[in-house]
Amino acid sequence: MSYLESDLSTSRPTHTVENYLMTMQVMERDQGEIVAARLAEELNVTPATVAMTLKRMERDNWIDGKGRHKGIHLTETGRKAAYSVVRRHMLTEWLLLKILKLPMLEIHAEAHNIEHAISPQLEERLVDILNNPQVCPHGNPFPGCEEATLAWTPLTEIESGARVVVHRVHELAENNQELLGYLIQNGILPGAQAEVSEVLPFNQTLTIKVDGKTCTLGFSAARYIFVEKLP
Ligand SMILES: [Zn+2]
Ligand SMILES: [Zn+2]
Repeated sequence: MSYLESDLSTSRPTHTVENYLMTMQVMERDQGEIVAARLAEELNVTPATVAMTLKRMERDNWIDGKGRHKGIHLTETGRKAAYSVVRRHMLTEWLLLKILKLPMLEIHAEAHNIEHAISPQLEERLVDILNNPQVCPHGNPFPGCEEATLAWTPLTEIESGARVVVHRVHELAENNQELLGYLIQNGILPGAQAEVSEVLPFNQTLTIKVDGKTCTLGFSAARYIFVEKLP
């Protein structure tokens, strides 16, 4: 084991646990609870694997399964570790995009490989160099910066005819390479201006125009896109 590995392993969870913690942080933030079945879906593993990992995570005090409240919850240590890996993930995305000029489609997946190895010193340096960002390149908030995103509305809540500016593509969409590719291809990214041209609730679809290009989205994808209405 190299010096770096041994140094990190004393203070940090394993890569697997870090990946669980990241997904848990998003679930807890958005739904107020962590659901094992959804972890299996998001992490692309079997329910049996999730059950085993959760047992280990409880033993190691990252989560609490028998707290006062029902369900799985992050312990204080677990939440700290989750915030740390989410921060490193988001800083790495910026590093890959801004400094290394990787394509938008690749930064999330590549950051997943690198985030575990970012030392606290490197993290601090990245914060400095990147000007202390509040959101990741997809517009998702750094832990503690959630307020920056509160004013943004899911695209599914916008009526037809409205003009909007896109601010955020949710973490769950970042994780879906096919959907993310479709959004990028159609220019549906933070900063883009769009017009909602048609909403068809019976069909569960809406159509938006970005840069003259028309594109149809199902509500299940559109709810991952957060926008602000333009006057
Ligand atoms: Zn990401
Ligand atoms: Zn991101």
